[in-house]
Amino acid sequence: MRGGGVRATLFGVRGTARILLIDDAELVFDFVQALFTEFPEPPSLEWRGTFEAGLEALLGGGYDACLLDYRLGARSGLDLLREASGRGCRTPIVLLTGQGSRELDLEAQRLGAADFLVKGDFSAALLERVLRYAIEGARTLERLRESEERYSLALQGANDGLWDWQVGAVEMHLSTRWKSMLGYTDDELPNLKASWWERVHPDDTAALELSLSRHVKGETPLLEQEHRLRHHDGVYRHMLVRGKAVRNAAGEATRVAGSLTDVTEARSHDALTGLPNRVLFTDRLEQAFVRARRDPDYRFAVLFIDLDRFKYVNDSLGHSAGDELLVGIARRLERCVRAVDTVARLGGDEFTVLLDDAREPDGALRVATRVVEDLARPFHVGGHQVFTGASVGITISSPQYERAEDLMRDADTAMYGAKAQGKGRFVVFDPVMHERAMRVLSVESGLRRAIDERELEVHYQPVFATATRHLLGFEALVRWRHPEHGMVAPLDFVPIAEDTDLIAMLDRYVMREATAQLARWRGGTGADLFVGVNASRKQFARADFAAEVSALLDASGLPAEALHLEVTETLTMDDAPLVGLQLSKLANRGVVLVIDDFGVGYSSLAVLHRFPFKGLKVDRSFVMNLDQSPRAAEVVRAIIAMAGALGLSCIAEGVESEAQFEQLRAWGCSRVQGFLLARPMPVEEAARFVSDAIRRGEVG
Ligand code: C2E
Ligand code: MG
Ligand code: MG
Repeated sequence: MRGGGVRATLFGVRGTARILLIDDAELVFDFVQALFTEFPEPPSLEWRGTFEAGLEALLGGGYDACLLDYRLGARSGLDLLREASGRGCRTPIVLLTGQGSRELDLEAQRLGAADFLVKGDFSAALLERVLRYAIEGARTLERLRESEERYSLALQGANDGLWDWQVGAVEMHLSTRWKSMLGYTDDELPNLKASWWERVHPDDTAALELSLSRHVKGETPLLEQEHRLRHHDGVYRHMLVRGKAVRNAAGEATRVAGSLTDVTEARSHDALTGLPNRVLFTDRLEQAFVRARRDPDYRFAVLFIDLDRFKYVNDSLGHSAGDELLVGIARRLERCVRAVDTVARLGGDEFTVLLDDAREPDGALRVATRVVEDLARPFHVGGHQVFTGASVGITISSPQYERAEDLMRDADTAMYGAKAQGKGRFVVFDPVMHERAMRVLSVESGLRRAIDERELEVHYQPVFATATRHLLGFEALVRWRHPEHGMVAPLDFVPIAEDTDLIAMLDRYVMREATAQLARWRGGTGADLFVGVNASRKQFARADFAAEVSALLDASGLPAEALHLEVTETLTMDDAPLVGLQLSKLANRGVVLVIDDFGVGYSSLAVLHRFPFKGLKVDRSFVMNLDQSPRAAEVVRAIIAMAGALGLSCIAEGVESEAQFEQLRAWGCSRVQGFLLARPMPVEEAARFVSDAIRRGEVG
């Protein structure tokens, strides 16, 4: 360090610390002086014996700390304390009391004493510690004050308010800036804790109080709590309070001081795009609800926008490109709407728009069209041209909506509808859609239990030889005997199971039931019957599917040819090598592969050739119109002819009339299935059907 004689810091004070003792007994001076000699670095001690002399010395300044006797002749040390701090004295004062009186100590603290010591009951070590804490605490406060002055001079208007509180006091120093943040001038708001506390949002008071008391107790290293404070204009602002306690040697907090930051902007805006965030958006949406309640004609709309390929951009070009894209999207969205509308980013690649006045519903649709078209155009990010596209869901307000979250949920549902319909489009929410969404949810959770609870059952629909009307086999069709909804048809839950992983479980169950059942019928009667089991396309993408089927066959003891697997055409479009592999494994095992619902999908001869199919089922929609529509008739006739030429068996589904049956027979369709001959039936009925057919000799 420069200059001679300057000693290292003591108590954080450069040079020798100067301590003032105010006490009417000189004996105490000698005593303290003696203790100081035991300090590692003894401070200098000055003594004043009267109230007036002491006050004058204090106000004169230059001391690092003061030891003040409680008894000063006729007057009390507390009076001096009050007087000194009232006159701007900032020297930390440690009160020397006669006997331990908790009330006195508290009163001293309230008046700004840094700490207290019980006379005759302290050691050099304790005195050293108390003085050190007092000086350090004062320095902390001094720095705070300095920074406040610096703030208010340099950064007026854009910074934090400061506050300073003697623990337990009614008063609380609130800086000018603190008050102006809430719209008040310095003298409009008294320096009271209540000025703050009574403006806290009722929902936030408890949390704020708890944070403060925990910090005062020393349970947290820092006071940090967000809460809402009511501004002069009546609107709540989001505030962040930060503070730190100054503690005495016993570790008790004597003062707490800190800052107050207005985080309303940060709380209400998305940092990346600068758009309003979910909080602010919900706020605006709620305001729209309020307006709608006053004005029954007022309508507003919510657009829920989800980018179609954001993840792809983010994953392939990196996060900074992703961020750049999001900013670009935000700017384009803003251009799609009017100034009164709100564009917000909810998070990730989800954006929302609140259209303020949507009396004309086409207004909302026009905006949605613009959004979809605008976001389909390429963006330039990170030196690349990228396409993202967006799916949009729309909800228009109506008196049925009472809560913002319901409207948001429906816009979200509609957005999923847009995705499901192929992305890059918008869908307007309608209540039917909502019902479907609800059903999907309940079906999904219900199905998970259905198998354990044995609510699923398999029904069997007979398949006949066209020429003889003899029984050839059955198609196994799943049913759900729902405890509340009664018998549920597969079209109401199989597609949902297919969207989840439940389909594997469901198909496995049906196949196990059906093969076991057929083995019983065949074993008991010797009849050569088959069972057709429907397999979802998802199954074929599983590497172990063929092995699983094979194991089931082994378990049932059925010959492989007795199992027909019905697969829809869409499967075969899925050219994945895995699917091809499973199909050939199954065919090699001897399982009969059949294309179901033939004619409605992407029928392709190439596919029929490529995969080892043995048969096809003409879709019911053609058979149904056979006698009315010449075109449908042509299709059926062509399919039958083609199957014959390729050596495939052909089953006509959904035969309901003799006329249809006759036509199919005439064209050479070998097998039929339909209500005309038999409906799907529960297992006991199917068992009787088998034995009746055998008795009459009408099998095979
Ligand atoms: P699918 O495989 O084409 O089954 C034939 C459907 O046509 C059955 O409907 C059957 O009851 C119905 N049907 C048969 N003959 C007639 C008729 O003459 N007239 C009319 N109107 N309908 C007839 P179901 O049982 O409702 O099954 C519908 C679809 O659900 C099935 O179509 C199949 O794709 C699927 N499915 C059924 N069970 C299962 C299963 O265990 N697993 C899988 N993955 N899908 C299944
Ligand atoms: Mg089928
Ligand atoms: Mg079918």
